[in-house]
Amino acid sequence: MKYISTRGGDESLTLAQILTRGTASNGGLFVPQNWPSVDASERANLLTGEYAEIAGRLLGLFGADSLPGFDVTSAIAKAMDNFTRPVGPPVNQLDDHLWTLELMHGPTLAFKDFALAPLAEIIDQTLATQGSQATVLCATSGDTGAATVSAFARRNRLRAVVLFPNGGVSDFQRRQMTTTGAANVLPVCVDGDFDDCQRIVKALYRTPSAERYGYTAVNSINMIRILLQTAYYFRSSGLIHSSTGNSANFIVPTGNFGNIYAAYIARQLGAPINRLTVTSNDNDVLPRFFDSGRMSGQTTVKTISPSMDIQVSSNFERLLWHIKGQNGAAVETAQLELENSSTYELTDPEMQLIREDFSALKCSEADANAAMLHTWKKYGKIICPHTATAMHAALQLESASETGNGATNETVIVETAHPAKFAKAVENAIGVDPEKPSNTEAMLQATEQLEYCEATADAVQSIIDSRFGPQVN
Ligand SMILES: *Cc1c(COP(=O)(O)O)cnc(C)c1O
Repeated sequence: MKYISTRGGDESLTLAQILTRGTASNGGLFVPQNWPSVDASERANLLTGEYAEIAGRLLGLFGADSLPGFDVTSAIAKAMDNFTRPVGPPVNQLDDHLWTLELMHGPTLAFKDFALAPLAEIIDQTLATQGSQATVLCATSGDTGAATVSAFARRNRLRAVVLFPNGGVSDFQRRQMTTTGAANVLPVCVDGDFDDCQRIVKALYRTPSAERYGYTAVNSINMIRILLQTAYYFRSSGLIHSSTGNSANFIVPTGNFGNIYAAYIARQLGAPINRLTVTSNDNDVLPRFFDSGRMSGQTTVKTISPSMDIQVSSNFERLLWHIKGQNGAAVETAQLELENSSTYELTDPEMQLIREDFSALKCSEADANAAMLHTWKKYGKIICPHTATAMHAALQLESASETGNGATNETVIVETAHPAKFAKAVENAIGVDPEKPSNTEAMLQATEQLEYCEATADAVQSIIDSRFGPQVN
């Protein structure tokens, strides 16, 4: 199994080679050259068992044999030892044909944990066999940074530097990043916004320090992270299918299009999945694109679901590659147009292909509040403001299908974060302060360790130098 760039060219690498690489050399994203073939017995194996087994089998199909000398399934299981749900994220039936997939039971209470923790272990064990070291660099609006810090803290061969905007993350999220007490973690509070953090990270990759420190990306453009997330969808659609005999429609609160792309992979490999629905908050770049065929970002507005406050869905480039018939040159043309003039347009047949599998719905703040209140009143369940966008979509789709024929698909709302992480917004909506998991108490009391920094790459690099000193790999 080889990985190639969405923007063409002849770069062709193994899974081991793309493990710690960000984008392809020509700026594209790595995609598997083709889907692995999955026969009926292999498919049955992917639909049952614990998360670590399923994820290990999946990585096996996608070229994990290129990783040097360790057992991937054991590595994944080890990374989730201390999770409250080490067997994997549970599914929870709310109503006839209505389910939630509870992805928020990891240590930082967001769906990213179930993929980032195993990814950290896999990187760590790979570096051990190579005798080398690396430094994970990430810009975050909250959840990615927290999950990264949790996954990489106290690993001898790895350091983690997370950049977050001053005032741009919740107190809870900031504390998740600043209270680990781990010597290999460096949280940097940048005097700027998320885009500044992102720009600085990109600039640091192009400096001589990049090689010295072994700068590495683990954001959702990392293909191995997405393949690990694909296991969420195999396991949950398998559980639901074995209990109902039906296929599942997933509704996924979306930002960078990573999580829903993982669901799409599961569908392409034969998991019992029917439709996929993208939901957005007021930053509705994808719903507008689905309506018009024109991708065009606007100014990002702050919402109560900050992990979805985004105008460029990076992973959409991967879907575009499939839609454009794996034509790298055509993808490159579209992406350059997007970079240069903030827009591209697809043809009607291309949009039809997308709409065969996907829908997209926007959810305003008022609608999200109503969905949180509805879920609390009807089911006694508290959901976070991100998950609320998916619940809103489920309610819309339900009223739309009342006029149609009796559906035999199960609808699955993907719960991307724990409500306690966004307690203020939740309390505003339902009048109840969501209970915090007991293991967060200590974090809320602990002393914070962080650096403050102006929004330039030089300033961030000198903080990294003074903390970690020049590193020799
Ligand atoms: C990261 C995140 C999202 C967006 O996921 P993508 O893979 O970027 O689409 C949605 N909700 C929450 C709570 C998140 O942390």
